[in-house]
Amino acid sequence: MHPALAADLARFPALLQSARDFAAGEVSGLAERPVAHRGAAPDPAVLPGSGTGAEGALARFAERWAPGFSGSAGPRYLGFVTGGATPASVAGDWLTAAYDQNVSGDAGSWAAALERETVAWLRELFGLGEAHSGAFVTGATVSNTVGLAIGREWVGERLGVDVSRAGASALGPVDVLSGSPHSSVAKALSVLGIGRDRLRPVPVLPGNREAVDVDALEAALAALDGRPAIVVANAGTVNTVDFDDLRAIAALRERYGFWLHVDAAFGGFAALSPVYDRLVDGLDAADSVCVDLHKWLNVPYDAAVQFTRRRDLQVRVFHNASPYLGLPSGEPDFLHLTPENSRRLRALPAWFSLVAYGRAGHREIVERNAALAAQLGEGVEALAGLRLLAPVRLNVVCFTLADDPTREGVSALAEAAAATGETFLTPTVYGGVPALRAAFSNWRTSEADVARVLAALDA
Ligand SMILES: *Cc1c(COP(=O)(O)O)cnc(C)c1O
Repeated sequence: MHPALAADLARFPALLQSARDFAAGEVSGLAERPVAHRGAAPDPAVLPGSGTGAEGALARFAERWAPGFSGSAGPRYLGFVTGGATPASVAGDWLTAAYDQNVSGDAGSWAAALERETVAWLRELFGLGEAHSGAFVTGATVSNTVGLAIGREWVGERLGVDVSRAGASALGPVDVLSGSPHSSVAKALSVLGIGRDRLRPVPVLPGNREAVDVDALEAALAALDGRPAIVVANAGTVNTVDFDDLRAIAALRERYGFWLHVDAAFGGFAALSPVYDRLVDGLDAADSVCVDLHKWLNVPYDAAVQFTRRRDLQVRVFHNASPYLGLPSGEPDFLHLTPENSRRLRALPAWFSLVAYGRAGHREIVERNAALAAQLGEGVEALAGLRLLAPVRLNVVCFTLADDPTREGVSALAEAAAATGETFLTPTVYGGVPALRAAFSNWRTSEADVARVLAALDA
């Protein structure tokens, strides 16, 4: 064994203690460190010839890289939709690395069974019934991709084509209809060989809404003359957190043949609160559902879950077995369900957080974040230089400059706010107007943080 490796083996517990001490310092300082780091990263160093050992690596990281990491896990990072990591989930993530299980299947470990238990808990948390099965994947983009891959296979089933063998081209053009899809849906269609251009926008409701107009969707489906299609319904749009009427969309399946995929990346968390759960009414009727976990569940990157009612078609797409062995039956190993073959035990951080805080603890995060978003919305309205672009429906505040909101002006405001070190917001364009979004999804955010964000915007 290389001497540095041998020395680390002997000192493994001490090394973990050092890493713990360093991490503890970073986590304690998180709320006060600059929310976004804006300086240039160090120049690349040469590949180390003889290693320093792990303590040396920790020292080098602390000196050279740690100062430039963002405070994105902290309470005032409101860009994109960026959750933090609950204490229990961090502990679970550390143990995931320490155990280093390969959750491709059940062989020799209970880890896959733990993932199944966690998926079942999440299914219940989001109000889905037992007809839905699921698996962990890396994020909502992959979760959407898996759901749409199963939908593609379903279109093939309708047309008498086995897409997994014949390829996407055997289907001919497939129409994918959606009101306000996330950009990851177009990416998924590119990956799946359906094509970005097949994503056909359906008009949304009038009156400052991003939810699909169900009558317009029905007209688009009727115009397909019986050709099977895919509908992507959106439960929580990124700009204004609008929700499609899932129940009304699902009811259209009585007259039209389509696969219903719901992108509930963060909007799915509305199901945790009786105040908001009507927003995802009908979610259980979906054929496939995407929910991100590194956002509003507040587990470390990267984690999401995908659900579907058609695991048989999922296995057809993703099975990784010699054809002569036949398709896996019974409870398939995870390697037959997801794009990955070897898989990290992503379920463990979520399992820890659900055990530690339960349904009630995670509901409290959702409701507090929504209340804080409403509070920031009121604060923005009260500032002379700013105005809301949409009502605050759940956890995102979409606003812009009161007069002449140009792209440059909005970027300058975002820059100025980030330069205070107090907060980080991301720009967007909503209804043709350049704007900023403040998205609340961190477990630590408090009223005092909202006051600091408002002060940064008013500076
Ligand atoms: C964030 C998000 C995605 C993509 O999620 P990743 O985890 O970044 O892949 C997809 N859809 C919606 C609605 C989102 O908010």
